[in-house]
Amino acid sequence: MAYVSLYRKYRPQTFSEIVGQEHVSRTLSQAVTEDRLHHAYLFTGPRGTGKTSTARILAKAINCEQGPTATPCNACSQCLGITTGSSVDVIEIDAASHGGVDDVRDLRDRVAFAPASARMKVYIVDECHMLSTAGWNAFLKTVEEPPGHVLFVFATTEPHKVLATILSRTQRFDFKRVPADLLAGHVRDLCGREGVTIDPDAVELVVRAGDGSVRDTLSVLDQVMAFTGSSVTAAAVADVLGVTPAELLGEAADALAAHDAAGVMTLVQRIAEAGLDARQFARDLVEHLRSLFLLQVAPDAGLVETTPERLVELRAQSERLGRHELLRAMDLLADAQALMRRGNTRLPLELALAKAAMPEHSGDAAALAARLDRLERSGAAAAPAPPGRVQVGPDNAQSAPISGPELGTTEEADTSTAEEPSRVQAEHDSAQDAPIQGGADLGAVLARWDEVMDHVKARKIRFHAMLQMGRPLALNGNVLTLEFRDGYSLHADQCASPQGAEVIAAAVQDVLGFSPAIRTVVGGADAGPAPAVHAADEAEHEAQQMAEVMETEDAERHGELPDDAEAEALAVQALTTHLGATVVEDAD
Ligand SMILES: [Zn+2]
Repeated sequence: MAYVSLYRKYRPQTFSEIVGQEHVSRTLSQAVTEDRLHHAYLFTGPRGTGKTSTARILAKAINCEQGPTATPCNACSQCLGITTGSSVDVIEIDAASHGGVDDVRDLRDRVAFAPASARMKVYIVDECHMLSTAGWNAFLKTVEEPPGHVLFVFATTEPHKVLATILSRTQRFDFKRVPADLLAGHVRDLCGREGVTIDPDAVELVVRAGDGSVRDTLSVLDQVMAFTGSSVTAAAVADVLGVTPAELLGEAADALAAHDAAGVMTLVQRIAEAGLDARQFARDLVEHLRSLFLLQVAPDAGLVETTPERLVELRAQSERLGRHELLRAMDLLADAQALMRRGNTRLPLELALAKAAMPEHSGDAAALAARLDRLERSGAAAAPAPPGRVQVGPDNAQSAPISGPELGTTEEADTSTAEEPSRVQAEHDSAQDAPIQGGADLGAVLARWDEVMDHVKARKIRFHAMLQMGRPLALNGNVLTLEFRDGYSLHADQCASPQGAEVIAAAVQDVLGFSPAIRTVVGGADAGPAPAVHAADEAEHEAQQMAEVMETEDAERHGELPDDAEAEALAVQALTTHLGATVVEDAD
C-alpha cells in the first residue's frame, strides 16, 4: 500500500477538526446554520493553516445531502465527491499553476450554468494572488454579480497582492499561525492514533520546526517517523532536522548565567564533536535567548510559543539571567553569525559566548549593564558599594563582595587568568604603600632596561617580543608607563594585560627591586606625567584595555581591517591572552 502522508491522512473533514482556527470555523458554521452565507470569501493566512481544508468543508456543509449543515455527514455522494476531488460542482483552481489561468476563462463561460447535482457550485481558487490581471478581470464580473447558485472561496498567503475590487467584494477570514500548544496536542494525538511513542522534547522540536503550520508540522513528523519508526526521541528529531537539541540550548543559557566561560567552551567542543552545525547552533541559541528575554520583559504576553512543559523550563532559565545579559549575549551572537558566514565558524562562536559569559572583561555599557544584572541576582546590590567602582573591577572574585558559589567555580575554572590579576594588584598595592625600593627613577629603569628585557624573556618569551615595540616613558610613583610605537596598540594591550603586566612587573622586581604597575601609551600620545593610579583605577584600566581589544575585533567585523588572517590572529590572541585558551588545531 502506498504511503499516505499524515497531512493527507488526517486532513480535517469537519469544522471541529480544524486546528487553531476556531474564529473562522465558528463563524462559518453559524452562517451555514442560519443560511447567511456570502457569495464570495477570502481566506488569508500562512501556508498550512487550513484555508483549503476549510473551503472544502464549507462546500460539503452547503452540499451535503443531509444539509445544508454545519456538520456534513462525510458519507453521502456529495461529501465523498468533494473529499476525493471528483465533484463536478466543486471546482478547485490552483492559480499558481499555469493551467489555472486558462481555467478562469473557461470558468467565466461555465459559471452561468446551474450545478449538475449539488445545491451550489463552489469555486475554490488557491494561491489567488498568483492570478494574472487577465485572470482577475475574468473573475471580476462574476464576483461582482454572481449567480445565486455560485460561491467563491479565494485563498491566499499574500492578501496585499489581491485586487482591491476583489477584497471589497469578499468576506475576509484571516487564518492564523497555529499556537504551539495546539500543534503539540495535535502531534501527540496523531502519534497516539498511529501507535507511535514520542517524548515531550521531540514534540517540542517538531512543533518548533513546523512554525505554526499544521501541514509543515505533519510533514516534519512524517520525515522523522520515516527515520525513527515507532519511537520518536528528541535526539532523533534533532538529527533529522539538523537543529540543536533543546538540552544543549538550556546548558548554554545556564553556562552564561553562571558566567562559566569554561562551560561554554566545553559546550562548543561538544557541538563540534557531535557533528552539529555551529551556525545552526548560533541561530538556535539566539532564538532561545530571545525567548528567555521575552519571558523576562513580557512574561504574560504569550509571546513565546511553545508547549506548556517547555514553558516551565524556559521560565526557570530566564530567571537565572538578567535582561541586559540576554540582550548582550544576543548582540554578541548576532555579530558572531555575521563573522561565521565568512568561513571560520567555531572561533567567532567561542569568542561571542566567552564574552557573553564574562561581562567583567568588557568595558562597554552593555557589559556594565550585564554586570549590574549579575549583581542584582546575587543580592549584592543590597549592600551597595560606591557606584562605578565594584561594578567595573574585573576578575577580583576573591575580594569582591559578589562571589556567589557559581562565580567561584567560574573563576576557578579559568585559573590561568583568574588568579593573576588579584596577585598583580596585591603586589601593586603593597608596592604603592611602601617607598620605592632603591629610589629608582626613570633614568635607573632605562639604564637597566636591557636587563629587564632579558628577565621578561626568561619568564615569558611572548611578552618579550611584544615589549620590543615599546620603551619606558615615565615612572610616576609606582606607575611605570611604557610607550609603544604607532600601530602597535595590540602589543601595548598585551603588555598591559593582567598576565603581561605581571611578567613585566616581576622582571622589574628582579632587576630593580620594585614591582611597578604597568601602564601603556601608543604613539607618544599621553606622554605627560601619569596620574597616581589606584588599584581600582588599575582594574578599570584593564577593563578598558580589554574593551579596546574587543573594539579592534568589532572593527574587523565591520570590514575596517582588510586581512582576514590578521583579524583571526587578533581574535586568537584575545582568546589566548584573556581566556587562557590554547590553540590546539584549526577548527575548519
Ligand atoms: Zn454528506
